[in-house]
Amino acid sequence: MARVHPEIYFFGAGAAEGRTGMRDLLGGKGANLAEMASLKLPVPPGFTISTRVCNYFYDHNGKYPRGLAESVAKSVARIEKALGRKFGDSKNPLLVSVRSGARVSMPGMMDTVLNLGLTDESVAGLEAVSGNPRFAWDSYRRFCQMYGDVVLRLKPEDKNDRDPFEGLIERKKTARGVREDIDLSVDDLKELVAEFRDLIRTRIGRDIPQDPREQLWEAIGAVFGSWNNERAVSYRKFNNIPGDWGTAVTVQSMVFGNLGSDCATGVAFTRDPSTGEKGIYGEFLPNAQGEDVVAGIRTPLQISLAAGRKWAQFEGLSEADRAARFATLEEGFPAVYKDLLKIANRLEKHFRDMQDLEFTVERGRLFMLQTRTGKRTAAAAVRAAVEMADERLIDRRAALMRVEPIQLEQLLHPRLDPKFEKVVIARGLPASPGAVYGEVVFSADEAVIVHQAGRPVILVRIETSPEDIHGMQVAQGILTARGGMTSHAAVVARGMGKCCVAGCGALDIDYTGGALKVGDRVIRRGEYITLDGSTGEVMAGRVPTVQPEMSDYFRKFMKWADQERDLGVRANADTPADASAAIEFGAEGIGLCRTEHMFFGPGRIEAVREMILAENAEQRARALDKIIPIQRADFVTILRKMAGKPVTIRLLDPPLHEFLPKDDEEIGKLAADMGADPHRLRQICANLVEVNPMLGHRGSRLGISHPEIYRAQARAILEAALELRREGVNAMPEIMLPLIGERKEFEFLAAQIREVGREILGKSKTKLSYQIGTMIEVPRACMEADQIAAVADFFSFGTNDLTQMTYGLSRDDSVKFLDDYLQRGVYKKDPFQELDPDGVGDLMRIGIERGRKANKKIKIGICGEHGGDPASVKLCHRLGLDYVSCSPFRLPIARLAAAQASIEGRKSKREFKDI
Ligand code: PEP
Ligand code: MG
Repeated sequence: MARVHPEIYFFGAGAAEGRTGMRDLLGGKGANLAEMASLKLPVPPGFTISTRVCNYFYDHNGKYPRGLAESVAKSVARIEKALGRKFGDSKNPLLVSVRSGARVSMPGMMDTVLNLGLTDESVAGLEAVSGNPRFAWDSYRRFCQMYGDVVLRLKPEDKNDRDPFEGLIERKKTARGVREDIDLSVDDLKELVAEFRDLIRTRIGRDIPQDPREQLWEAIGAVFGSWNNERAVSYRKFNNIPGDWGTAVTVQSMVFGNLGSDCATGVAFTRDPSTGEKGIYGEFLPNAQGEDVVAGIRTPLQISLAAGRKWAQFEGLSEADRAARFATLEEGFPAVYKDLLKIANRLEKHFRDMQDLEFTVERGRLFMLQTRTGKRTAAAAVRAAVEMADERLIDRRAALMRVEPIQLEQLLHPRLDPKFEKVVIARGLPASPGAVYGEVVFSADEAVIVHQAGRPVILVRIETSPEDIHGMQVAQGILTARGGMTSHAAVVARGMGKCCVAGCGALDIDYTGGALKVGDRVIRRGEYITLDGSTGEVMAGRVPTVQPEMSDYFRKFMKWADQERDLGVRANADTPADASAAIEFGAEGIGLCRTEHMFFGPGRIEAVREMILAENAEQRARALDKIIPIQRADFVTILRKMAGKPVTIRLLDPPLHEFLPKDDEEIGKLAADMGADPHRLRQICANLVEVNPMLGHRGSRLGISHPEIYRAQARAILEAALELRREGVNAMPEIMLPLIGERKEFEFLAAQIREVGREILGKSKTKLSYQIGTMIEVPRACMEADQIAAVADFFSFGTNDLTQMTYGLSRDDSVKFLDDYLQRGVYKKDPFQELDPDGVGDLMRIGIERGRKANKKIKIGICGEHGGDPASVKLCHRLGLDYVSCSPFRLPIARLAAAQASIEGRKSKREFKDI
């Protein structure tokens, strides 16, 4: 059949005008429905209106392209013909769903209208054709509720208000003395429809249209409109999804999972989304519609018998009890289960990735309503990628591309300290792993306030909805009283990599009173609780956490990444403990040891203060005599831990203000220690105060003013290394000068270090080689890189300062206004988090080119915070750096990002694009 309109794509009856590669145009849902239809899977017929129409809609004040209305009508006629039902018919009516769908999945963020086409006339037709009045009126009740909410925007009036429609349902149930929706009679449902419409008329001042075509147009407009609702905008911001992608709208004929006990609806994954274990995993509800499963109002049942048994064990149910009350799909619908397994396998093979499926069973017949790439925890992503490669479903490189580097952070999340006696007060579902504690809050807005005050927060809700997204984003963890493993809270938390315990039925949550009750215990707003998202346990107070061990899948995956990457990876490590973590997370060396950080802490900082405040070389030498042995001992430990690996030690770069005594008491104490006059000391402190300390007397400028400081540090480093060499330990020190902007600065200081080197090594039989290099963090250093490289062994880009000085943005103060830049879209990203590829990137490019031209052997790395940010790591790869250096916990992220950068660079993108 010919296309009816260039922006409308029909699917159904074993054929489709769209396909999976057209996700930009059809959205993920529309594209995959088309693909499933082409694969001749049982997909109810329908059509998708492209995302281009969404953009047109926004560009033209809510208008549609020419001819669209007629073409939608023709497309509806095609569905009518395929099914032999008519829109609005009083005998055999066609009902449709109107669903949103962007090119990437934004679960629950946009709107959908189901059962569209029901009117006072056609509800009678549905009653007749189904022979099931209860079903017909339940569908009409659902339609009025959804239409009122989504299209007519009848919403709760404040955050403590219940959904007004749910409120009427609750009232009705109480009046009838029943607990479940399903126990309401047909007359009750009829009354509810009337009450819903009364409510709409009172609050909105109009009724639900009785012409299905009018309903359809209003619903299409509402779905396009939902692209820019608050929660979708907030989700896009959080996930870096551009606002101009737009959503498609899919209009699809309805199938019903709520026609009777031979009907059901459910969601299934082809692998367990929490662990990645292969096998069908999901939940369903007999005699229900799709939104019931996700809404978490009824407790869903398991799909496979194996999962059902595991679930029962977890819930403490006997097998007999489980089989009687919680029969799985495998038991209750064996033929459907077999079909579903077959289709799930086929789809996973076809799409070559774990799928997340939505299905409905209508009178014993299975229909597929959606397939998409399944969201998964980091642990599941890694395991599934490794196993899919081992199964030869994908190759290793594709496996490496399947995990977002930033996701790996989840794997490094802390666990509860097993040695600690915890008091478990309740247990819910282990919806998303990790162990966290925080202050209890009961609304998303409160979560934001507590977060802004710098305190950890746990968002506690009866169930979450997309309205809670901004609170979920800032919360450490999420706890809900209702909902299953595929409830909104569970799915969204997993996607965000947040700890979540869902469906904790023992909780009695009182929003207005600001308290949660479990048995006799009351926990009030502001009190601490701890969640374990891997076991579902909820604990009172704060339970300490410990670092996780890494799984075999993770090790294997990281090994593949290491084989693939070209960039080296090092760690920023200032203490022996950091060095141990660095080794554990795969560091190939230390890229930055900030020696001033070795002095934070009692007993040490005083000596540094003495050195800074010394009035003459003699006093300074006395202070250095206290400092240097401490440093030498630390260097010995670090260099020993890193034996055989380079360790870049940066000479002092103290922003002086961080080290000066803060008040009279500290000054008095220091004066006593130094045997100095407190008044004089106060004067010296006052003299040292700088208006702009970050551009002040720091870095190599300190070394130029007081060469004895750098000489003493060089001595400590070289003596420590030599001592180890004598023991046969391969210490590899690299001495780094900070804040160099001029060749002569470098030459002067390097000469001092070499002189110390000759003094120490000249007399020694043991050989020690060491290097002297520089940070490149002053824009001038990039421009003068050829001059500096001629005399330096290595460069390390200090992109924290380089960003600060390139933008002229204070590292310390810009947090106060950077958010305005981001909110207004002036900056796309915080340049202190993600390297600016243009200005700062260009300066780096110049520095690298000029540096390498003058010194072919020069080694070049980066040690600013950007070294652990995936996009920045990829830029560093493209710039041709030799290594990146970042905090130990970010190393796996940097290793994977580096591998992905190599793969992207070597292979054409096509091969790795998601299908
Ligand atoms: C930098 O400026 O990027 C850097 C690593 O040095 P610091 O953060 O210590 O100034
Ligand atoms: Mg710096």
